[in-house]
Amino acid sequence: MTTPPGKAGRPWLRTDLPVEQRVESLLAEMTLAEKVGQTHQSANIDPVQDRELIRLGGIGSSVLASGATAGNERDAGVRVSAIDAAQRIAVEESRLGIPLLFARDVIHGHRTVFPIPLGLAAAWDEDLVFRTAQLAAAEASRDGVAWTFAPMLDICEDPRWGRVAESLGEAPVLAGRLGAAMVRGFQGDTPAGDGTRGAGTVAACAKHFVGYGLVGGGRDYETVQVGENTLRNLHLRPFQAAVQAGCATVMAAFTDVDGVPMHAHRHLLREVLKDEWGFDGVVVGDWDGVGQLVNQGVALDLRDAAAQALVAGVDIDMVSGAYAAHLAELVETGRVPLELVDDAVRRVIRLKLRQGLFERPYVGGTAPASATGPAAEAPAPEQSDRALGPPARALAREAAAASFVLLSNNGALPLTSNPGRLLLTGPFVDEGAALLGTWSLDGRAEDVASPADAIRDRLRDNAIVDDGRFSDRTLHLVRQADITIALVGEHPSRSGEANSVANLGLPAGQVEVLRAIASLGKPLVVVVFTGRPLDLGEILDLADAVLIAWHPGVEAGPALIETLFGDRSPGGRLPMTFPRSVGHIPSSAHARPTGRPIDAADDTVRGRYLDALVSPRLPFGWGLSYTTFTYGPLRLSADQMPLSGGSIEVSVDVTNSGTRHGREVVQLYVRDVVADVTRPLLELADWVSLELDAGETATATFTVTPDQLSYYDRTMTLRIDPGDALVMVGPNASSGTSARFTLTE
Ligand code: BGC
Repeated sequence: MTTPPGKAGRPWLRTDLPVEQRVESLLAEMTLAEKVGQTHQSANIDPVQDRELIRLGGIGSSVLASGATAGNERDAGVRVSAIDAAQRIAVEESRLGIPLLFARDVIHGHRTVFPIPLGLAAAWDEDLVFRTAQLAAAEASRDGVAWTFAPMLDICEDPRWGRVAESLGEAPVLAGRLGAAMVRGFQGDTPAGDGTRGAGTVAACAKHFVGYGLVGGGRDYETVQVGENTLRNLHLRPFQAAVQAGCATVMAAFTDVDGVPMHAHRHLLREVLKDEWGFDGVVVGDWDGVGQLVNQGVALDLRDAAAQALVAGVDIDMVSGAYAAHLAELVETGRVPLELVDDAVRRVIRLKLRQGLFERPYVGGTAPASATGPAAEAPAPEQSDRALGPPARALAREAAAASFVLLSNNGALPLTSNPGRLLLTGPFVDEGAALLGTWSLDGRAEDVASPADAIRDRLRDNAIVDDGRFSDRTLHLVRQADITIALVGEHPSRSGEANSVANLGLPAGQVEVLRAIASLGKPLVVVVFTGRPLDLGEILDLADAVLIAWHPGVEAGPALIETLFGDRSPGGRLPMTFPRSVGHIPSSAHARPTGRPIDAADDTVRGRYLDALVSPRLPFGWGLSYTTFTYGPLRLSADQMPLSGGSIEVSVDVTNSGTRHGREVVQLYVRDVVADVTRPLLELADWVSLELDAGETATATFTVTPDQLSYYDRTMTLRIDPGDALVMVGPNASSGTSARFTLTE
């Protein structure tokens, strides 16, 4: 091994040089073993056990997670002292001093836990998503985390799949725009011209590339059948939006796509993502995803898996050890070209430079000894024990309330300020951790403001709080109360990774108790905590009002009680269709036309099922508020739109026709009437959020451009067709006013 260059001979440390020059100067100094080290990601690095390996440059990054499905449990938290100690070895004792990169799944908040991503998506609010990601990045980076594995951008059409909870829903435009906002929140809104990011940011990761939302039968990790056209027109779009927003990294999906596992999918990873889109960031494999090529039956052994994955474009091998064990030999024997390893290493170094790790390697953003004299020997503090401050709590409450979706209401909500004796019952009454949701590794149960405390604060002696057992005993309390609020739904352990279900009803027993409560004839409001769309047909019939609260995070209780009493008006809209039953899956707002279209007005007769309506129980975009809105006629500024550079203003007056302030999410859908491939009957293209006082009217105006009607054709070429197109504007995917216009050459 050659002697390390002196400090002066380390141009990669010079911030006055362009990043690419710094990358090349470092790459030129690296041995093959050091290069391979940068492609190896270990789990939970240990400064004692891994000391030699770190000194030799054998580890490039480390994922801080309890195991293969870490999202299902809260772990002991980040060991900040271990991170710092490992980093000191890398920076001060390894030959080239390349800092390590510490990654953690900061999915919907770090210590301050916000609603699950599906709930955040229900707010249809890019600025809110941006602010939650920004706060999460600040908290996580204080704990030494420099890279998060979010946003999750899988387009989800099957609520059986537990991971829909982590997603931003079924619509590429919604997921793409919210995903891009999340990327900017994590990485900082204004990276320098050379892409470098400041302190308090973390690198983002768009995952899981691609098609994971289509796992067969909703069973996690299942195989995926999908063609490239559907991938391009639907599933790849939010990823492209994230890449355009500067997302630093992309994670490969566990699944195969039409027979080719994504960890070996050269076409999609290298040709589409890296070459066609010009993505210069890192592709990381998912947990043991490289190793699992053996289980998937396309690789003979780990060595073969390493070769296939690296050639396909996976730059970092998360924990399988395949690259660490075999890559050097694979290069030496000519099976893997050195240029491809160099390409992977360049990307990793670029990521570390852009993240500012060479300047601020240590927790708290301190500089290495080389820059400041001997590094302080004081041990780094353990994970921050700060109580959540008022600004963090305020944002968590705002986000939780914004995520709530009012599904039905016969006037029971909002509650009057003096509703009489109010019973709060159901399994979630006094919950802590269960209200945080899946992937809240650093959230703490004791930080959760519970619904029980919030209702007691509000109603004092008029609050009756049940014990959460939710059984026939509850009926005694219902009899004593004037109104019952039942908090039901799924525990987070029923959603998230590896937690799929075959039935979409409420968990066992809950419907029976709700039926019994309803039979007593007193007002009943049902609040559903959930990580997925559920089949709520019967609940919608028997309750006076139904509110979806997802898993709302640390401010669950106050956000909920303030909403029920009308201090806040529910303004969320469903980011996924709620199907009528499991038999209706997949059910989404981007169905494409068939040769024998269903007549919506005559669904039962000419529909696709003999025994059920085809239409969804609740369409994509659905959500009520405590007031009503009426839509005026649709206005188009022109009925012709030139393909090149043209645009049309589409506008509609919306009036708050009720008696309270409220938020309406005005949604724009488009359709290309005749195209080269079948195109969605309707596809979300844009939305405008209006906050209106009672009686107030405002105009929602959309600028429709040819771009919004572009799509990939039979030859996978992006194009826009001349000819007729439709726009529909309305409150959800199933209702609105349409108009036609023509795209002209
Ligand atoms: C999940 C990823 C996650 C990774 C690291 C995997 O099991 O699929 O979404 O980022 O673990 O924890």
